[in-house]
Amino acid sequence: ENESTVSITVVGASGDLAKKKIFPALFALYYEGCLPKHFTVYGYARSKMTDAELRNMVSKTLTCRIDKRENCGEKMEEFLKRCFYHSGQYDSEENFAQLDKKLKEHEGVVSDADLLSMIIFQSDVLVGYRGFRLFLSDALCTMLTYISDFIDELSLCQKSSTLSRGGKASNRLFYLSIPPNIFIDAVKCASSSASSGNGWTRVIVEKPFGRDSDSSAALTKALKQYLTEDQIFRIDHYLGKELVENLSVLRFSNLIFEPLWSRQYIRNVQLIFSEDFGTEGRGGYFDHYGIIRDIMQNHLLQILALFAMETPVSLDAEDIRNEKVKVLRSMRPLQLEDVVIGQYKSHSKGGVTYPAYTDDKTVPKDSLTPTFAAAALFIDNARWDGVPFLMKAGKALHNKRAEIRVQFRHVPGNLYNRNFGTDLDQATNELVIRVQPDEAIYLKINNKVPGLGMRLDCSNLNLHYAARYSKEIPDAYERLLLDAIEGERRLFIRSDELDAAWSLFTPVLAELEEKKIMPEYYPYGSRGPVGAHYLAARYNVRWGDLGLDQSA
Ligand code: NAP
Repeated sequence: ENESTVSITVVGASGDLAKKKIFPALFALYYEGCLPKHFTVYGYARSKMTDAELRNMVSKTLTCRIDKRENCGEKMEEFLKRCFYHSGQYDSEENFAQLDKKLKEHEGVVSDADLLSMIIFQSDVLVGYRGFRLFLSDALCTMLTYISDFIDELSLCQKSSTLSRGGKASNRLFYLSIPPNIFIDAVKCASSSASSGNGWTRVIVEKPFGRDSDSSAALTKALKQYLTEDQIFRIDHYLGKELVENLSVLRFSNLIFEPLWSRQYIRNVQLIFSEDFGTEGRGGYFDHYGIIRDIMQNHLLQILALFAMETPVSLDAEDIRNEKVKVLRSMRPLQLEDVVIGQYKSHSKGGVTYPAYTDDKTVPKDSLTPTFAAAALFIDNARWDGVPFLMKAGKALHNKRAEIRVQFRHVPGNLYNRNFGTDLDQATNELVIRVQPDEAIYLKINNKVPGLGMRLDCSNLNLHYAARYSKEIPDAYERLLLDAIEGERRLFIRSDELDAAWSLFTPVLAELEEKKIMPEYYPYGSRGPVGAHYLAARYNVRWGDLGLDQSA
């Protein structure tokens, strides 16, 4: 593997995601020495750019971590020298073939044309030698014939241009960072004209993977015309987040959590995502999807599956994905009455007026697209029967956060409730896994306030990452890109997981749209629509993020 080459082509290199996440993640991997020795990064998009212009664009996006400042400028220069650009259409096999030629040059692969001329030249030389065979011994002549035959054979077996200098494998990774309507064209052209002849070819696909069961199945079917499932890396960057990765470590390598991880001890689980900004002029894409498809159906549901799965046979990708898909397939169909939707409206605060969702010029004025949703989900299996899994996701809320909250049951016959009248909710333990920002895992416990009297308090046993570890946490895209290069599929979505995830949400999404259900309006910067509280209350739940949290 050390001697193999890896070419990473960022398709849609001129776009937002490429600049914001992909190039910086590739540089961070390079800085860490995680990229293979022989790697090349190619940007591909329609925009006209030279290599120098791409490097200039990329250089503006690169940063050095606080703990990684040493030689950072030098490393950036080295990295940029490995970045190139090819301008082309996404549906042009010819343009991808041109890219292929350039990739081969970097990979040190001899092209058909080069190979042919090399063979012709060498054969000519041999024939020339043969002309002088009078001067050569018979033995030497036989040897030359062997060499000539060998070269002929070589030309036959290298028909597909797979000869690389030194026999290295030329591996290729395509990152499709483009709008979904051009995924298939790009995959078709990349696979037919620019896939590797003697190494692996993998394609990272970004969400959205369709907008319902049918469109997702159609996308999978179309992708599989050109790629095998093994070549498709469906990215859900939440799975690459440090604390989501840590979820399984927490559960399976500590004695104290796993025995409690069931309906017997857990009252409810909350998966919360909030952003403190709206679509801000980028609502065109969002309006077609809405918050349920954008956040719940993928990110939150993936976390739920990881959270609730049975112990996998091993940490292998297939074992983990097998367990996740079982959870998804055990979920009770989501009912409309278990869903609340909202949309943010304009709000003035401190002399500033914050816009409504429909003030975004890229959004239709009469849009009913939810920018907020809350849902109550259930897993109908032995472990989780009856435990509400509440999800909440919204834009333009009062804070920016992603967290998992696990509320444990009340202590049966709690002496202290009886004697000191503690609020029942306060008396229960809650485990909070704050995925972002300011990563932390904390467990709320009850303790006695020090002193002669007997007063109870609720405190946090807190693993606060910034305090515990001085290093910055790598971005999810770094981990996922590295995994894709290494062929590790654990954090990518398999097609059956995707099907199960869509089956859960498709009927309710269709109903919301067919019945034109009005979203509940909530002010920009607020805590979201009140309907979310009624939904939680129906299942005897209080949203954990609304209380006073010492770690908040
Ligand atoms: P983008 O900036 O809108 O598009 C990427 C590039 O694709 C553009 O620079 C443009 O390059 C080309 N392009 C745009 N619209 C096109 C069209 N209608 N037809 C043909 N080419 C077009 O997208 P992005 O925000 O980088 O996102 C890329 C992908 O990642 C999308 O699938 C998105 O859903 C997904 N994603 C994005 C984010 C994010 O934070 N941005 C997060 C998660 C997932 P040229 O004009 O130079 O060809």
